Amino acid sequence: MSKTIIVSNRLPLQIKLENDNSLKITPSVGGLATGMKSVHAEGNGIWVGWSGLTEEETDSFTKKKVNEAVKKEKCVAVSLNEQDVENFYFGFSNKTLWPLFHYFMEYTEFEKDQWESYQEVNQKFADVVLEHIEDGDNVWVHDYQLLLLPKLIKDKKPNTTIGFFLHIPYPSYEIFRTFPWREQLLEGMLGADLLGFHTYDYERHFLSSVKRILRLDVKFNKINYHDRVVTVDSFPMGIDYNKFHDAALTHTNQNPKEKSELQRRLDNHIQSTSNAKMVLSIDRLDYTKGIPNRLRAFEYFLNKYPQFKEKVRLIMLAVPSRSNVPQYQKLKRDTDELVGRINGEFATVSWTPIWYFYRSMPFENLIDLYTSSDIALITPVRDGMNLVAKEYVATRTNEDGVLILSEMAGASKEMNEALLINPNNFEEIADTLKQAIEMPTEEQSKRMKILQKRLKRYTVEKWADEFMKSLNATKIKDTVMV
Ligand code: UDP
Repeated sequence: MSKTIIVSNRLPLQIKLENDNSLKITPSVGGLATGMKSVHAEGNGIWVGWSGLTEEETDSFTKKKVNEAVKKEKCVAVSLNEQDVENFYFGFSNKTLWPLFHYFMEYTEFEKDQWESYQEVNQKFADVVLEHIEDGDNVWVHDYQLLLLPKLIKDKKPNTTIGFFLHIPYPSYEIFRTFPWREQLLEGMLGADLLGFHTYDYERHFLSSVKRILRLDVKFNKINYHDRVVTVDSFPMGIDYNKFHDAALTHTNQNPKEKSELQRRLDNHIQSTSNAKMVLSIDRLDYTKGIPNRLRAFEYFLNKYPQFKEKVRLIMLAVPSRSNVPQYQKLKRDTDELVGRINGEFATVSWTPIWYFYRSMPFENLIDLYTSSDIALITPVRDGMNLVAKEYVATRTNEDGVLILSEMAGASKEMNEALLINPNNFEEIADTLKQAIEMPTEEQSKRMKILQKRLKRYTVEKWADEFMKSLNATKIKDTVMV
């Protein structure tokens, strides 16, 4: 019986080496792991990825233990050393591909050593996949760390069906063409039979790069490549809707004694002023998320509409991320400084305009934040999808609340009932915030209902299911173009 091999940079497991050398393994609860659950569970399906522990951290005994432990979870670990992680992950993936694909050309480094490491590590992943693959199997490769993997597998095992999904934006041709190894990268991706993107725009950008750089024959969403046809399509990723919706329902009915410390503080603020409004933002502290823009726009809003002083509060949760990369360190400094300046400028004895948290929060606290906030203000300058926007909507069990969302987030393509803004236009953000604060509940509910209906239908499980269906459809030969 054929099986599906899932491949991603990290395994869907958190593996921790305790001080006494014992291993603690917890399955991840993230969106991708949820979506892939049924694909992974089916038959002899396996998941291939890095364990998160480097070769230097694990002696041969521990390595054996890790391998045995992950095997129980139907996973196979790819072994990476510190140098690999430095050059392939922090280097090429996060200092080249991430900024370039998010249109941050000024942050993009083109280092030959890191490119070489990227190729080597993709080969290490391929070697592990090839050890486990049999003719007729499906392989589903995930994300920008593994763009070369489809070709490395296809060349050795042409009778396998390979899908690839990119979780970040695919940039326009004019950006992509600057990349020094552009042909190899495209050829790497074209090893797949199906290439999936979050939005139609990313799909179009990819097809345009293929046409102009490789001069291939493209008809609609199909590419004639050697003796094969590669299908390209968009699959907007959803969330585990019921998980968020049900948690919010439980939260609303919770016994006051069970409330978290955070919820008590939020309640205090809500009760402290009549017409108090809570505006929420949650993101990793990443330069793509438009955090300084948002802060400056909020400052602009307070100056333009002073009637909202002491009434409106921005709660900003910034989750630490890639903090060894210089641009992220600078963003942290800039953010701290901006928050300090704005709070210093506007605070009164009873009101601080911005509550800033630099940490990650457990799921229960995220639900506290989502359910207590009248408005979600999500302003990335570039974002592949943005699941936070979807999670906010899913938790609004009373069908109230307003989502303000950047049109540069992939999610905006499916969330037309949100208030869409250009994250660089402070005037527009300030006016939209006012509009959100003053929006009648009937209108909030009308918009929220439509958004919820769509999210409920197109969950992350459905996303995985649709992708697998399309992948299986590529096996049918009459999809071949003429
Ligand atoms: N999230 C989390 N812990 C936190 C804050 C956020 O696990 O303290 C989750 C959040 O629920 C969401 C994800 O992180 O599912 C962020 O996904 P998104 O697509 O918005 O952005 P990404 O970080 O993938 O760029």
